[in-house]
Amino acid sequence: MRIGIDLGGTKIEGIAIDGANELVRRRVRAPRGDYGATVREICNLVAAIEAAAGRKGLVGVGIPGAVSAATDLVKNANSTWLIGQPLGRDLEHALGRPVRLSNDANCFALSEATDGAGQGASVVFGVIIGTGTGSGIVVNGRVLEGRHRIAGEWGHNPLPWPHDDERPGFRCYCGQTGCIETFLSGPGLSRTYAALAGTEADATEIATRAESGDWSAARALAYYENRLARSLASIINVLDPDVIVLGGGLSNIGRLYTNVPALWQPFVFSDSADTPLVPARHGDSSGVRGAAWLWRDTDEASI
Ligand SMILES: [Zn+2]
Repeated sequence: MRIGIDLGGTKIEGIAIDGANELVRRRVRAPRGDYGATVREICNLVAAIEAAAGRKGLVGVGIPGAVSAATDLVKNANSTWLIGQPLGRDLEHALGRPVRLSNDANCFALSEATDGAGQGASVVFGVIIGTGTGSGIVVNGRVLEGRHRIAGEWGHNPLPWPHDDERPGFRCYCGQTGCIETFLSGPGLSRTYAALAGTEADATEIATRAESGDWSAARALAYYENRLARSLASIINVLDPDVIVLGGGLSNIGRLYTNVPALWQPFVFSDSADTPLVPARHGDSSGVRGAAWLWRDTDEASI
């Protein structure tokens, strides 16, 4: 049995799976701002899941950040109370077993590559577009973590082939200006819309307004699609994945899947660019499922 934990900013979700079968699912509120309470809450969740399932499992945890390869401490977390903490070591100590941690976008990509929209593809690029932008790379069923465990962190590259009115771009929390995330996150789309319409709306509302003929909303989405096309073209040029899977709140905008591939061809250095762009199969469950998949069959046999 594998247990996957998805550590979010507002909730902690956990599942137990046996093969592809989900046995138990639990969700608790995340103790915001309190690292010690976060560790305790994860352990309580694992105990509750194991009590319900009637057996113990291997534990994988998806975190909103990365584990530094240099120090084994959490870095790049938007749940800032995790930064600089030895989360992996503390969980292993508290749970009395090895625990695997990975970035939540890596878990998303792994879930979709294993039995989701990227199943059967050799190289999967998974993107979460929501409050931020995260992404992960899975090659032959395994997460590509990278030397610094930042592989796939494409949201903090600059927006490619920027137009004059996109330069220098917005300041990003990472310290740079004009990052992809500042354009392609939900708040990024909202900012584009507000500049056109003179009024605020969130990404879901913008999509709804565009469908009902709102000119500003349609214009904002057209900008968004063009920027997403350029940003994904830069990935195709480097990684040339077999499939690109979108997750997160903005992945529910259906027109992206036809409009974006139609726009990326001029930026892809190839005579054809037929990379499938598809929505996630497991939706919001992909994070927690992917965390469980951090333990593979071959690993289980060796423990
Ligand atoms: Zn940035």
